[in-house]
Amino acid sequence: MHILPAVKKLKIDMGEAAREVYFDYDPTMEPEQYSIVADKTGIRVFSSDKKGKFYAKKTLEQIFYEYKDKIPCFTIEDEPKYSYRGFMMDCCRHFFTVDEIKKEIEVAASVKMNKFHWHLTDDQGWRIEIKKYPLLTEIGSVRKQTRKDGKEVKGYYTAEEIKDIVKFCKERFIDVIPEIDMPGHFTAAIAAYPHLGCTGEKKEVSEHFGIHCEIACAGKETTYGFIKDVLDEVTELFPYEYIHIGGDEALKYRYTECPDCRKKIAEENLADEEALQGYFMNAAIDYLAEKRRKAVLWNDGTLGGNVKGNYAVQYWKETKECKNAAIAAAESGKEIIYSPFSSLYLDYPCGMTPLKKTYNYKEEKELTDRVKGLETPVWTEFIPDIKTWELRAYPRLFAVAERAWSEEKDYDGFLLRLDEYEKFAKENFAIKICDNPDPNRIAGLIETLKFGIKAFDPYFIEFARLTRITKKRMNKRKNS
Ligand SMILES: [Zn+2]
Repeated sequence: MHILPAVKKLKIDMGEAAREVYFDYDPTMEPEQYSIVADKTGIRVFSSDKKGKFYAKKTLEQIFYEYKDKIPCFTIEDEPKYSYRGFMMDCCRHFFTVDEIKKEIEVAASVKMNKFHWHLTDDQGWRIEIKKYPLLTEIGSVRKQTRKDGKEVKGYYTAEEIKDIVKFCKERFIDVIPEIDMPGHFTAAIAAYPHLGCTGEKKEVSEHFGIHCEIACAGKETTYGFIKDVLDEVTELFPYEYIHIGGDEALKYRYTECPDCRKKIAEENLADEEALQGYFMNAAIDYLAEKRRKAVLWNDGTLGGNVKGNYAVQYWKETKECKNAAIAAAESGKEIIYSPFSSLYLDYPCGMTPLKKTYNYKEEKELTDRVKGLETPVWTEFIPDIKTWELRAYPRLFAVAERAWSEEKDYDGFLLRLDEYEKFAKENFAIKICDNPDPNRIAGLIETLKFGIKAFDPYFIEFARLTRITKKRMNKRKNS
């Protein structure tokens, strides 16, 4: 019996089971837990909640597929390792339709994932309708071209479409976590409303990838008002506990020279520009807490050392400094969502991040106790359409789903389960799956090199220059 993700306990007995399925209530079971007993009288499912029942059905779908005419007698006891099992779709760098998104949600549900992190705002596009600020989508959702290719990329989700996705996910017991990235990755918002930036100058929705110079001004009260208004509408649309507020890759170049930001640093007695970002994140965290929501921040969003309140940390950046920031958060009792860049980021080709590496992702022992679960991000800078998205995401997303659900770590067993699951998924969901996810070293190096050449943008040199200047300025102030 090949069930993916692997079930906790499986026993196959003699004889053939009857196909009728009966659902029973077992109050002793935990949420999401279920068991199945199949014998000649029928198939009995036990669970204490609708989620357990749903996951039992997902298991049965695979069993019915594998044993088309004759189902053996068996017993299964199953429950998840982590309560957070997620995937992320970046709909900013490239836009995907509601139907395309639903298709991938359906696939994720079939491998028992329960969190859909929806990246909705970035430098290259603002994709969520905010009624109070219509220019966010009128101007912010249109990118004239990408790296001089002359091709327009545009699109956004209306409030009605978002409600539709949320409902679709709810029926599959998937929570939707929207991400409104701040204060960095904010160029599209500044393009729509220039006063949100430090300079107040008109900017274009970015036509390049990488870390950007434009940032939400943390010195002006109007920025805080804007963030609160946006979060008001976001929390109306998304009913779940977590709201992602980004915090990643926020270059502080503007903060080193903006008079409003300098004034804020002095008034609030903040250590430096990193702490100014911390102050800014705190405002959003506190505002969400008032609404009984929990903010999620990427780990580099907590580098100021002064981020406080009720939030969770998404561990992605594995540099020493960023790892230590996550460890400090874990030690102070914060939940960690585990997404290490080197293994769980699926936007890179399999040559760079092979399936085996994803499956055997590195666990940081200082974080293990506080890990709430796994999430696999799929950024879309170099994923122009849904077919390419699938070829990057699958089968590696299935490896993440298995590791998030199963205590067991068994790569060879996983490959056997995967083989059967892929047939099932291709037939039921008509998805594309990468057929060589573990290329040999040479093929992997060539693929990585090709990707690197394709991804390189001379614009990165400018970002690197601004980063150097920013560091110099910050060090100079620290030492004076
Ligand atoms: Zn400013």
